[in-house]
Amino acid sequence: MSLTAQIDLLRDAVDVAREAVVDDGGVPGDHVAVVVEDDNSAAHYFTADLPGYRGWRWCAVVAVAADDEPVTVSEVVLLPGDGALLAPVFVPWSERIAAGDLQPGDQLGAEPDDARLVPNQIDNGDVAAVDGELGLGRRRLLSPEGRADAAQRWYDGDYGPSSAMAQAAKHSCSACGFYLPLAGALRFTFGVCANEYSADGHVVSAEYGCGAHSDIAPKPPVSTPQFDPFDDGVLEVFATAE
Ligand code: SF4
Repeated sequence: MSLTAQIDLLRDAVDVAREAVVDDGGVPGDHVAVVVEDDNSAAHYFTADLPGYRGWRWCAVVAVAADDEPVTVSEVVLLPGDGALLAPVFVPWSERIAAGDLQPGDQLGAEPDDARLVPNQIDNGDVAAVDGELGLGRRRLLSPEGRADAAQRWYDGDYGPSSAMAQAAKHSCSACGFYLPLAGALRFTFGVCANEYSADGHVVSAEYGCGAHSDIAPKPPVSTPQFDPFDDGVLEVFATAE
């Protein structure tokens, strides 16, 4: 038995490979390469002219048991060649979603190992029995990491102290009557604005501020000479020439 003869059989099996592609429904073009995989198998590559598969190639894998045995076909596949048009790498939906994507009716569940949440340790035993009265009942709570991330986002965001609005404000939210402090660990650093003309309903940093602060006195109405109100109850007296 000659190993060289066996390899030659594999290399020379171009027609066998081409016929296998045709039998598989393909239309093989030029023979572009043969790759000897091991002592008993080789892959023959042919150009493929298929719509949507630019740069792809037909590949027929042939095999031989010995140099006096017939060459057989193991498989026929379509494979991408160099520079082939490929689909983008699949990214799971959970990794693609971004802030602002959530729409009415969407459901976005947190994974069991979501680092932003921790189990609610007090939601068990006897305490759970009075959950209804205390307003508890949450199975998971924000973790320190989740809380710190949120705080940083809010602090750096549109309602943080570095925003243009806050930079131009003379007073901060912490001293504003419209400021409703959050409960819990963030009580002293964040609250919700309840001023419908400002950041109404948004979490604002205690260091944020705006021109609608409750301590700002309303300005008296201003007008221009062009639009001075005309008081027709006032008589203007003009001297007349005799
Ligand atoms: S009105 Fe302005 S200063 Fe007051 S809480 Fe809202 S954003 Fe802060």
